[in-house]
Amino acid sequence: SLDMGLLENPLVPRQSENARWLLEQRYYADRYDPETGGLRKERSFEEFARRVSRIVCTAESLYRGADDIEWIRRLEKNLFADLVEGRFIFNSPCLFASGAGMTRVPELAELIYRSPDEMELADYRRLYDNKTDNQQLFACFVIDIPDSIEGIFESVRDAAVISKYGGGVGGNFGHLRERGADIKGGTGGKASGPVSFMETWNTMGCVVVQGGRRRAALMGMLPDDHPDIEQFMDAKTEEGKLSYFNISVCVSDELVSAAREKRSFALRSRANGKVARTVQGDELWNKLCQNAWRRGDPGVFFIDRANADNLLKLSGDFDIESTNPCGEQPLPTYTSCNLGSVNLVKFVRPDETGRRSFDMEGFMDQVYRSIYYLDLVIDATSYPLPRIGERTKRIRPVGLGLMGLADAAILSGDVYGSDSFKSFCDSLGAHMSGAALMATVDAVAHMGKDPFSESFAVAKLFEGEHRVHGGELFARQWIKEMDLNSYREFVAQMRSHGQVPYTLLNTLEVLPEVLGADALPELKRLMTALLEGQLRNSRRLSIAPTGSISMIFDSSAGIEPNFAWRWSRKVMKSDGDGWEVREYFHPLITQKEADELRGSGVISDPRYVTAYDISPEQHVDVTGIFARYVDSGISKTVNLPSSATVDDVRNVYETCYDMGCKGITIYRDGSRDNQPIETKKEG
Ligand code: ADP
Repeated sequence: SLDMGLLENPLVPRQSENARWLLEQRYYADRYDPETGGLRKERSFEEFARRVSRIVCTAESLYRGADDIEWIRRLEKNLFADLVEGRFIFNSPCLFASGAGMTRVPELAELIYRSPDEMELADYRRLYDNKTDNQQLFACFVIDIPDSIEGIFESVRDAAVISKYGGGVGGNFGHLRERGADIKGGTGGKASGPVSFMETWNTMGCVVVQGGRRRAALMGMLPDDHPDIEQFMDAKTEEGKLSYFNISVCVSDELVSAAREKRSFALRSRANGKVARTVQGDELWNKLCQNAWRRGDPGVFFIDRANADNLLKLSGDFDIESTNPCGEQPLPTYTSCNLGSVNLVKFVRPDETGRRSFDMEGFMDQVYRSIYYLDLVIDATSYPLPRIGERTKRIRPVGLGLMGLADAAILSGDVYGSDSFKSFCDSLGAHMSGAALMATVDAVAHMGKDPFSESFAVAKLFEGEHRVHGGELFARQWIKEMDLNSYREFVAQMRSHGQVPYTLLNTLEVLPEVLGADALPELKRLMTALLEGQLRNSRRLSIAPTGSISMIFDSSAGIEPNFAWRWSRKVMKSDGDGWEVREYFHPLITQKEADELRGSGVISDPRYVTAYDISPEQHVDVTGIFARYVDSGISKTVNLPSSATVDDVRNVYETCYDMGCKGITIYRDGSRDNQPIETKKEG
């Protein structure tokens, strides 16, 4: 349920000096200080968490009456406790921008930081009504880039506005006509092609600084059948080029099979739709692998997979063209998504015998609550462009992910990449997506009828099955009489129809085990919701890199292994007089292991594996296991030794494709360090 039963005395998470420093530098907001009448920075994690949880819960005032104030207060207390106890956290923009502008205004600051027991519905509503344009809480955006000068420069403007408000933005440049094609209007001019216009975006990225906090983050994609595809693949080979971009090729099912069967592959003109040129599928695929081998770019985005797994695929208007910059969030154009992550470390608990084990039930409750929190952010945020707000509210995507997987393994005595670890990952994925699905079904009931959200055409996806059961009325009767066997048969039939998104099917398949003894009534509720198209969120899971937020919680990032146990950093001396080099250890390292590291440089305990101790196959397996359940994308890098070959890269890509991943990033040890030397050689 949403109510977790508050712990009386929230334990403040143990915060390293690193985490405190990061929070003070970048996350604590300037606020009005009633004591001095001036401004001061937030002073504690609690003060910061109060602001964030208060602002997110203002959205609840849209759905509740004055009588429901206890509900809102309890929700806010739960969220506050989840943040302060280090179990869950939103993506950075939400932490930066909650209350933006308002914290400086005396009366509003008083409302933001007061105790929840003193809040009334009108107070939440007042904060909601006073939100500023700067209260932009989302990390992920995708926009459209149409094939006209007006369209291209509108896209640059839109990307600039999104970047200014702290969002990462992606776009597919594949609508643009290829280099050398005729320009419309018969002027005799020639088009300069997608890659040249990416430079325009990049220049924008260089100029727009996001409120002084982060540099811009852009994603540029190009479909594999665009005539400029080779030029695109080479676009980042020169050091410093397109430096604000991640680039990815939209790899189609057709290219993968053409490569495997060594067939030819057609590149199509964007000016007239005709075949511009044919290439060998194998050669194009190898070029992509070669470039990735050389320096990690471009990435691959298996776009047909993403669209096959899109719950909105029958709605017509919400096909997927691109992802956000780090790849975990495929989105239809002019939509956006906010992310949040559950910290797995906090769910490893000692049992009665003192043995540590993973609290799967507690984890599921956390997932359930977190989906609800992320849904609130969709209403609490200000949107950088009205069109994005309208479209996002129609489909209400949220992206819940994980952090601390590697550290949770260490704590529970497991080894990242081992067989027992992999079955733990499978169980995590199954329980996470099961809890998220039930949360989004229940949210419809909690929120009442939502004026914005589209019916997801989910019902249409199940239409074939309705017909089998003779129409909707019969389907309802069938659900009433359903038992676990007929449920399982139903899921198997849906799989053979091939229309229902595969991560949804995988989730439905494991749900009886995930829900346990009382599964049946829950499954009936779920089947009714699917029949009626009543899901609150068109997608729910997305595993983000958690580059900054994992540092706040001192956890390993996302589902990645650890990279090091010891590192050094130059820090300002505590008396402010110059700099010193400070040695840091991973938070789980004990004195004994620290001594081992200082001595021999290695730790004898086998649980302490790093990204390069883990084989590429193990990296791929972990990604593929989560890909069964994660309906959006997964940010995961497969680390390869520097001795890896181009064929190894190709192998990684093809295995990930076969396992149902929507994308993957590889990094060969040392490949970027070599780059400047190669550039010199070529130049
Ligand atoms: P965080 O840990 O700060 O919440 P992540 O590292 O998990 O962020 O990245 C999540 C997403 O946030 C990225 O995929 C991207 O869309 C967006 N993002 C990350 N860094 C930036 C940045 N510098 N500028 C804009 N967006 C960013």
